[in-house]
Formats: sequence, structure tokens, C-alpha cells
Amino acid sequence: MVINMDKIRDILNNSKKIAIAGHVRPDGDCIGSSTALYQYLSLYKKELGIEQVDIYLEPYGDQFQLLSGLEGIKCSCAGNEVYDMFIALDCGSKDRLGVVSEIFDLAKTTVNIDHHISNTMFATINHVAEASSTSEIIYTLIDDDKITKEIATSLYVGIIHDTGVFKHPNTTSRTMTIAGKLIDKGIDYSKLINDTFYAKTYKQNLIIGRCLMESILVLDGKVIVSSISQKMMDFYDVTTADLDGVVEKLRVTKGVEVAMFVYETNPSEYKVSMRSTGKVNVSKIAVYFGGGGHVQAAGCTIHGRLNDAINNLTLHIEAQLKEINEV
Ligand code: 5GP
Ligand code: MN
Repeated sequence: MVINMDKIRDILNNSKKIAIAGHVRPDGDCIGSSTALYQYLSLYKKELGIEQVDIYLEPYGDQFQLLSGLEGIKCSCAGNEVYDMFIALDCGSKDRLGVVSEIFDLAKTTVNIDHHISNTMFATINHVAEASSTSEIIYTLIDDDKITKEIATSLYVGIIHDTGVFKHPNTTSRTMTIAGKLIDKGIDYSKLINDTFYAKTYKQNLIIGRCLMESILVLDGKVIVSSISQKMMDFYDVTTADLDGVVEKLRVTKGVEVAMFVYETNPSEYKVSMRSTGKVNVSKIAVYFGGGGHVQAAGCTIHGRLNDAINNLTLHIEAQLKEINEV
């Protein structure tokens, strides 16, 4: 069922025990929207008739420590708690919930609040809207006068991460209006942009440099590809949470239509991050390989050999470029 509710109170429908969770390897929008909703439900618990609210998130990057609401996070471990309502945020498909999908299955009602075009509508209530970010959707579900400076901080961080600080075409005038309203709450927006989006540790810069050095151009320079092995991540003492900025740097290469960054998550298991200028629909390719995302930013996990993964993905990009006579 796809519904068009405009207020969170309708969605909550007198649920007493609520769980909130984002997707595996949470990004800024996932953390921002989850902590914003968690803070809101905790703060207005009584008024909303809620007895318990829990938040589940996998480990996230240190740059997000400045957000409020993180202290309540439960580990993303399998459990058997039964909730009246389970709210999945920024999650395009059920498998993206990781181990907490077991708790999702036990919940009496499930809610899916998201903005991915590839969303599989996996919950009982699916609130999937066209928006820059899930954080933008959360803003529209809460009355402005109930948004504290701390909630605004979370929502602002979510929006800047999914819009690449208001530069991606998913940024609309509504996004900017909401960002303005959040700034009016007194948030330190400049610090939030610098500290959560642009700041990199020395190690992160080294790994970005390494990935750029080893990148290759294929399909007449229309596609840039780079990859990193687990061994190399160990060498630089980084984890997958440190790789955030790599695909962003590959993406801005002149003449490139698609940037592809592949990193090893387990032996013979690779996570793929794709970015496109818009001519190629990378969500379509990611969905084909069992993943998902947006037209210009998508990802998937591929098992097997690295070269096979890259070759297969490149073939799909080539097919789309041929369709529009770009190669
Ligand atoms: P990233 O490349 O930054 O990991 O992800 C880009 C976009 O694609 C994000 O919106 C993210 O949620 C989505 N995405 C990445 N990997 C997957 C995946 O394996 N499955 C699905 N459904 N979406 C993904
Ligand atoms: Mn998002």
C-alpha cells in the first residue's frame, strides 16, 4: 500500500513500542534521518502515547559524533524483541536492513520511509516520496515548531550528505526552503558542512590519493574505475567507513559519464559504488546486480572475481551509452 500521509502522528497510529533503523553501512542521510526521528519521538513520547522507542544503527564514521540521539543506539544485532511498529529509514529494500530485518519481521506494523526510486515497497506502510533525502521527508512529517536545534542538526546533516552540499540535481527549491528553516533553528551549518562532509583524516586522504592514482579510464574515457582490496585497506589502516570520499573524487573527472568504485568487503565479495552525470541510469544497473539507489548514485554487492565484476558492470554501462550513441 502506498499512502500519502502528511503527518507522523497518522503513521504512528497509537503505537506504544517503536523501533527505528537505517540501512547497513549508514551514510549521512541514514544517520541524520534516523537520529532526527528518534529524538523527535523520544522528546514528544508522552504526547504521542509512546512507551518505548529504540534506534538501531550499524557503526558509523567518527565525523557524525557531533549529532544528538546517537547515545541511544542499540547494536545492530539479531534479537527477538517484538515492536508495535518498526520504521525503516533511507532503506531501498528489506535486505538493506541487515541483521535487524529479523526484528522487522517480528513487528506488528512495518513502515518504510524512503526516497530511492528503486524502493521495493517492502513494508505494510510505504511512504516513498520524491525528495533530496529521507531527512527532507522527515522534515515534512514533523510540525516545524516541534523541531529543536538538535533535531534540525540531524536533518541538515542528512540533507547536505545526500545533496553533496546542495549541488546534486536532487536539490530542489523545497530542499533549500527546508534548509533555510533548519538554519533558522540556530544550527552551526558551516561547522556541520566542514566537519561532517569535507573534513578527512590524513589516512582517508591517503586512501583517496591511492585510489585516484590507480584509477583507469575505459570506454573512451566515459567511465572511470578504481578499486581497493582488503589488504590495501589494512595497509593504510582504514575501514570501509573511511572510503566515503573516493567515488566523489572520481566522479568529477572531466569527460566521465560514470564513476565506479569497487571495494572488497569480504574475500570474493565486492561493494560497488556508482555515480553518473545522469545520461546513464546507474540505479538500473545496480538493481540488475541485486542492489539499488538513484539514477545518479547507486550501489550493489557482487560476488566472485574483481575483474569479472568490473567487466560485467562496464558492459551494462556500455549498453546504455550505446543506446544514446555516446560510444
Ligand atoms: P553509495 O555508493 O554511496 O554506497 O550508495 C549510493 C546510493 O545507492 C545510496 O542512496 C544507497 O542507499 C544506494 N545503495 C548503495 N548500495 C546499495 C545496495 O546494495 N542496495 C540498495 N538497494 N541500494 C544501495
Ligand atoms: Mn538517502
